[in-house]
Amino acid sequence: MTNRLLNWCFKKSIWVYHANAGSCNGCDIEILDVLTPYYDCERFGIKLVHTPRHADALLVTGPVTRQVRERLLRLYDAVPDPKLVFAVGSCASGGGIWFDSYATCGGLDKVLPVNIYIPGCPPRPEAILYGVAEALGLVPAQVEAQTYVEA
Ligand code: SF4
Repeated sequence: MTNRLLNWCFKKSIWVYHANAGSCNGCDIEILDVLTPYYDCERFGIKLVHTPRHADALLVTGPVTRQVRERLLRLYDAVPDPKLVFAVGSCASGGGIWFDSYATCGGLDKVLPVNIYIPGCPPRPEAILYGVAEALGLVPAQVEAQTYVEA
């Protein structure tokens, strides 16, 4: 998806649907923090919705357990295009300590195309806000995208 299309689609607000794909609940609690009046994410137009059909973006936590994989794919299909996918936390970003566990897929990008990674175990509420603000074009990216190839 081009930046131009993103800028046009998500100019003023972004409605997100939160999905737990096998998280320990740590990342989910930090997402709840972002929704409290203290962080007040709605001032940036970030709003939590209760059905994927109303969402612009999926906010996914957890390493994606094998049990949840099919449901997550159905959830992704239910979100109308164009859509964004956020991997929240180290588990969703690359599997975390479960990256080679038989019970998980080893990270969200093994199952869905991820647009924004927000690492941390769990990421701080400020980091989650920053990641979504970056997707909205409100702040510049702090780091360049890098690809690591193991020797
Ligand atoms: S990144 Fe840490 S806090 Fe988040 S789901 Fe994984 S283990 Fe839990």
